[in-house]
Amino acid sequence: MALVVQKFGGTSVGSIDRMRNVARRALRARAQGHDVVLIVSAMSGETNRLLGLAHEVTGVPDAREMDVIAATGEQVSAALVAMAVQAEGGQARSLLGHQVKILTDDAFTKARIRAIDGSMIRETLAEGKIAVVAGFQGVDAGGNITTLGRGGSDTSAVAVAAAINADVCEIYTDVDGVYTTDPNICSSARKISRISYEEMLELASLGAKVLQIRSVELAMKYGVAVHVRSSFSDVEGTWVVAEEKSLEDVVVAGVAYDKNDARVHVMGAPDQANVVADLFGAIADRNISVDMIIQSATTGPERAVTFTVPKSDLTRARPFIEEVAKRIGATEVRYDEDVVKVSIVGLGMRSHAGVAAKMFRLLANEGINIQAISTSEIKVSCLIHAKYTELAVRALHDGFGLANEAGGK
Ligand code: ADP
Ligand code: ASP
Ligand code: MG
Repeated sequence: MALVVQKFGGTSVGSIDRMRNVARRALRARAQGHDVVLIVSAMSGETNRLLGLAHEVTGVPDAREMDVIAATGEQVSAALVAMAVQAEGGQARSLLGHQVKILTDDAFTKARIRAIDGSMIRETLAEGKIAVVAGFQGVDAGGNITTLGRGGSDTSAVAVAAAINADVCEIYTDVDGVYTTDPNICSSARKISRISYEEMLELASLGAKVLQIRSVELAMKYGVAVHVRSSFSDVEGTWVVAEEKSLEDVVVAGVAYDKNDARVHVMGAPDQANVVADLFGAIADRNISVDMIIQSATTGPERAVTFTVPKSDLTRARPFIEEVAKRIGATEVRYDEDVVKVSIVGLGMRSHAGVAAKMFRLLANEGINIQAISTSEIKVSCLIHAKYTELAVRALHDGFGLANEAGGK
């Protein structure tokens, strides 16, 4: 007998019929003698609808109230799925974030979990019931409802699995595992059977939304066995595991893309020591994270600085970027939202030279201009024009041999 956490994403609970499937799957696991905790997302499209309503009322909605609204999507799913289990003859109880006591910090709309009190889940299981936990939501120390950021139900699932010491955390979604790249934009993408936490963490942070980044961080920290699989079939999915020797043979394990950043170009700043410190200091003070940074080499008395910030922060960031640009003596600031960051990820990059050069060549062969580059030990990212997204992803994916069975070696 095992303790199993099963998380179902928006598409997997997208209709009453699909909720019945979720209930049947959970009851099958019960029939095999397992204790089952379900974590459910809002029905597909619901979170967007709710956030859209808030934006209809005001351009800059209050973050606390946003979370009160957004959390309702998962509340509805939890109750309906619990009822679906009951309708199939099983026993279930829904639990909201504050009932489980998923305690978070108070960073509304992007809260982080601090602690989980698993006792109410354990009591529910001890009564022979399936616990159906609303994903995405928590409660802060002041009793306010919080949410964990888009895709946060993955994080709820892994955190609950760690808190109750589950044997496995199954993430059921609309694809049957983690692929070498997004299967919805590249038809030669292949399912990966095992991937390391490190690679999954990079892929998630570089745009592969199949798992929320924070869920992978937690899985890695607490050693949670994560199995990403399809809610529409029983085929084996992808296991996210600790680093294994054989995984290091793969130079490039996957390709990711992210359209959520915008490029900011500050021109004509004087060539002085304080310029970048002042510019990025001001941005950091406003809690906006900067990703790629390029400072052009100076030949004359001026320099240009290019960097990327999340598109969602751009409206808020523009006034003070312009203010600090003026203060440091820059002549012009330009913005470009038509950009995408494409990235390659692989543990094998640590021991193989020339991977970045090959990436640049593959993009150049397609006539794609690179606007910015960033690298770390196991990834290389290039910022390019958004119109080339699919072309670039396919060129890199196939160019690094990921379409073949041998993949990336
Ligand atoms: P859920 O609603 O179940 O949480 P998401 O939409 O958040 O599902 O995540 C699944 C989606 O992630 C897939 O439909 C796919 O388009 C996308 N995706 C991006 N990169 C990858 C990848 N490397 N492997 C699998 N899916 C990916
Ligand atoms: N419903 C939330 C979202 O759409 C959380 C999730 O699905 O994981 O972002
Ligand atoms: Mg998701």
